[in-house]
Amino acid sequence: MNDTLSPSSHKNFIYNIIDEDLKIGKNGGKVATRFPPEPNGYLHIGHAKSICLNFGIAHDYNGTCNLRFDDTNPEKEEQEYIDSIIENVKWLGFDWEERLYHASDYFEKFFQFAVSLIKQEKAYVCDLTADQIREYRGNFTTPGKESPYRNRSVEENLDLFNRMRGGEFKDGEKILRAKIDMSSPNINMRDPAIYRIRHEEHPRTGDKWCIYPMYDYAHCVSDALENITHSVCTLEFEDHRPLYDWFLDQIEELPHPQQIEFARLNLTYTVMSKRKLLELVETKLVNGWDDPRMPTLVGIRRRGFTPAAIRNFCEKIGVTKQESTVEMGYLEECVREDLNLITKRVMAVLKPLRVVITNFPKDKIDELDAPYHPNDPQMGSRKIFFTNELYIEQDDFMEEAPKKFFRLAPGQEVRLRYGYVIRCEQVIKNLAGEITELHCTYDPETRGGNIPDGRKVKGTIHWVSVKHAVKAEVRLYDRLFNVENPLGNKDIDFKDYLNSESLKVLEDCLVEPSIMEAKPEEKFQFERLGYFCVDYDSTSQKLIFNRTVTLKDGWAKISLKRG
Ligand code: ATP
Ligand code: MG
Repeated sequence: MNDTLSPSSHKNFIYNIIDEDLKIGKNGGKVATRFPPEPNGYLHIGHAKSICLNFGIAHDYNGTCNLRFDDTNPEKEEQEYIDSIIENVKWLGFDWEERLYHASDYFEKFFQFAVSLIKQEKAYVCDLTADQIREYRGNFTTPGKESPYRNRSVEENLDLFNRMRGGEFKDGEKILRAKIDMSSPNINMRDPAIYRIRHEEHPRTGDKWCIYPMYDYAHCVSDALENITHSVCTLEFEDHRPLYDWFLDQIEELPHPQQIEFARLNLTYTVMSKRKLLELVETKLVNGWDDPRMPTLVGIRRRGFTPAAIRNFCEKIGVTKQESTVEMGYLEECVREDLNLITKRVMAVLKPLRVVITNFPKDKIDELDAPYHPNDPQMGSRKIFFTNELYIEQDDFMEEAPKKFFRLAPGQEVRLRYGYVIRCEQVIKNLAGEITELHCTYDPETRGGNIPDGRKVKGTIHWVSVKHAVKAEVRLYDRLFNVENPLGNKDIDFKDYLNSESLKVLEDCLVEPSIMEAKPEEKFQFERLGYFCVDYDSTSQKLIFNRTVTLKDGWAKISLKRG
């Protein structure tokens, strides 16, 4: 386990269960968990909650956590997803050591256990079609009806099951079902499927198999085969627990892990289902799985979120059995908290306005020392260059400024961060009446921002030297959806709630030269603007930054104003 991880300070109900188990000496005092993704898409921030929980428990109890691919559904699963999941879990800071498993490793064992269920008259081959099975299953108010194939002999079942494996039947022609109770109030117990026929190539087993086990069967048996003690999953599996237990009760030679359910993570302004995310990718409404607006781990990584921030977030939101939705702003706040500590603060101008310092010598360069972080001298400092031509932010100037505008306005003074105090003397416009540049004077007595005569200069703005600035593209990201719950209205397609302003590209930004060599994933605070991360597409010829988060939660302010 990565040594930067500290034991959870936020214990939860699962810890209480484990503590009790340890007290009574269950499982020989061992704690073993697993993270069992199905490789049918990219992981998202919801999965991070499960990863942190499972690996966190293993860490805190000195136990183990396996990474296991639940690869039992070859139609939808791909190697690309497997590779990405491995990369994501590592990136989050977790280590499964040599315990990387695949449900497909157990295909032969699954088969043998299914044979033993048949021999115990606990499973049968059924010829009903999928539609008939649905019809026979009944619903919450009506009990199910027994299949006419339910009482096949053991011999016939064994023969048919072997022939299913042998490839004699077409997809959907037969299934193997558990023989439990068609009138059970729990629909999961009404003779659920164990094996189905799928003539489909598997990424790991190739064409060796044409029958594949169902999730409910494969999952509990995999847990047991790996000696998992606590099988932690999300609440939608609560009604499947009796089936989990039923299978393991029939297979006496296997240990019996305890399934424990917790509430999944939901976040506002996004969707978390892999199916919905795939839809966004396939319809090209986002630029791929790692679009920085996506809640996928590859997306938020590209956006600039850090593993430490995500782990801290998962720790803080806690683990309960209550369904709830966490504010996206809360996740972003955790990201700010981490980036505030670890990023250098530099200056960049996103929408430049040229400023000529009329009383500063034309060829002079004044090198000023600027610390990278006000509270962390360890980060060191860099040189910034004051010259007679600078860029400031267009928003930092107003021709007709209201009283409380403490930035630059005609006749008004402002402090340039780490530079001098300047005063705006003249506004230059083009024929269309647009402001093209400002003529200002600087006060040579105010080097480094000190004002010896003590006069009041309220504002401080950021800037770069025209001669030294480096061009960059900056991508401003905002919430992907413009409503808190895009899935909240059944009559409206969630894609209709996409925020059309979620990406704005600014191509003519200017950054200070100290970050000219910045490499993908490097992170900075651009003073007064927010946190930014170098994009994967960035090169030394063309720098590209993604805005990770603004310095403050803009959306919170909006809702406060409204409220
Ligand atoms: P999705 O519903 O997003 O498609 P899934 O549950 O089908 O996800 P799996 O690959 O089966 O995805 O999930 C692996 C593990 O991650 C499971 O144990 C699952 O319960 C957990 N998990 C998935 N989504 C969340 C979530 N939003 N919050 C917490 N845990 C989650
Ligand atoms: Mg699933």
